[in-house]
Amino acid sequence: MTDVERRAALAVIAAEVRDCTRCRLHETRTRAVPGEGDPSTEVVFVGEGPGFNEDREGRPFIGRAGDLLVKLLASLGWQRSDVFITNVVKCRPPENRDPLPDEIAACSSYLSRQLEILDPAVVVTLGRFSMARFLPGAKISQVHGTIRPADPETGARNALVLAMYHPAAALRTQVIERESFDDIAGLPGALVASRDRRGEAPEIGSPPPTIHSVEPADIDQLTLF
Ligand code: URA
Ligand code: SF4
Repeated sequence: MTDVERRAALAVIAAEVRDCTRCRLHETRTRAVPGEGDPSTEVVFVGEGPGFNEDREGRPFIGRAGDLLVKLLASLGWQRSDVFITNVVKCRPPENRDPLPDEIAACSSYLSRQLEILDPAVVVTLGRFSMARFLPGAKISQVHGTIRPADPETGARNALVLAMYHPAAALRTQVIERESFDDIAGLPGALVASRDRRGEAPEIGSPPPTIHSVEPADIDQLTLF
């Protein structure tokens, strides 16, 4: 798929999400939050669901948790526009309660379709609900910071998963904040390992891939290397 085709396919999903009434969360939302980012990225971040600010603006991770996510990315020299950011449920649960199983199920195909289009090399799960989708049965305290293959049934057909705590948990607890910076430090290595598994590694003898952030002017032609 070309960049233009991916962008168009993601826009179709976003339009469906904005009008979606498949679960009760549509009754209380202000705006649905389909997700955003570079359609040609290799890295997709998946959070839980929109909060207060996200519901008002229709954009993911723009409140305090989003500020921390930007800092975590900056620790790698990356920007949020280098990656794609979305959530397990696209509409805010009332009072930021946990999403319910039937809401997650109702919303599931939007995330799967986004992942099929993006075909990421790495999926970073933020928090328990996102982790549960990619690593069923895992415990966040045990798997955070580790890298495992994604179940292709999720739509991410050939990806490694890096599990992380939710940034909101890191905002509440300093130890978790520190661990989050340690965990994200494994992301460039996960990306290199995943490219290798996907047969996207550089030829022997060529210099190792370096990952650097891009200037805003380059965002339209963005890749992460
Ligand atoms: N928390 C999430 O899980 N997702 C957002 O988009 C914002 C906060
Ligand atoms: Fe539709 Fe998902 Fe929003 Fe429920 S949470 S109304 S399934 S977009």
